[in-house]
Amino acid sequence: DLLVVGSANADLVIGVERRPAAGETVLGSDLAVHPGGKGANQAVAAARLGARTALLARVGDDAHGRLLLDSQRAAGVDTVGVLVGGAPTGVALITVDPSGDNSIVVSPGANGRLTPADVRAAGSLFRASRVVSTQLEIPLETVVEVVRGLAPGSRFVLNPSPPRPLPAELLAACDPLIVNEHEAKVILGEACVSDVPEDWARTLLSKGLRSVVVTLGAQGSLVASSEGMTRVPSVKVDAVDTTGAGDAFTAALAWRLGAGSSLAEAAAYASRVGAAAVTKRGAQESFPTAAEVASL
Ligand code: ADP
Repeated sequence: DLLVVGSANADLVIGVERRPAAGETVLGSDLAVHPGGKGANQAVAAARLGARTALLARVGDDAHGRLLLDSQRAAGVDTVGVLVGGAPTGVALITVDPSGDNSIVVSPGANGRLTPADVRAAGSLFRASRVVSTQLEIPLETVVEVVRGLAPGSRFVLNPSPPRPLPAELLAACDPLIVNEHEAKVILGEACVSDVPEDWARTLLSKGLRSVVVTLGAQGSLVASSEGMTRVPSVKVDAVDTTGAGDAFTAALAWRLGAGSSLAEAAAYASRVGAAAVTKRGAQESFPTAAEVASL
């Protein structure tokens, strides 16, 4: 089974002719409210593929929290680990102009209150999981506690988004660390002296990581471990909206690893899932079923 530990946000989106400057008011479109947040997205993506998936997250005791619980349940995610209360549900306030450029304000809300103690209290979810997948929209100390709470033999997958320098304990547990180009550069910091993904992967492996996957958008991905490095090609599709593609990729990869696939096999499947996700608008709305992936 797959356990996702991470964020759940309501994305509040308004289309505008022009994004407002300081002190300015602009009129916009009707409000659209979408379930989002990287943790919630990963859990829905995995469940839609057919993975037995649970989410450990925190939402507020409010309408946005209920929206998130409903969308998780509709996708078939086990929500016993979704804690309620302590702060309002996390929200992203998004304005989008006609060219697609956006401005986003994030209120982490309840995501910021998912604590190491919450992780320790979820022992039964950890014992039932072969793979635990996380991101960085919850406190870093909580992600570190996830590593400490892993059941023997279970595997830790991290997409460090939004990126920040990571403690050695966290890096050493990643199998794999999944990064896009921007995330790779932030994690490497001053150690990033090259524009070649193979060099990033080599440097990350030298920091004690067991494996690394660098996602390269339409160029597919690079898979690296002590056993070597392979480029995994992407699938050619007409990209409509890349929102959530990284979340779908990570969820699919984590699920396949738990099912016994090699890292390269899992990345090849995840590439197809990521490609399917960019052919539709939105995040969770764009995630494919296994049948849709097979017919791609
Ligand atoms: P992120 O969304 O985190 O920046 P990427 O843009 O690298 O990550 O996308 C993640 C994965 O989604 C890629 O590795 C690829 O499999 C798939 N993907 C993204 N954009 C495209 C695209 N234009 N065509 C095909 N696949 C894509």
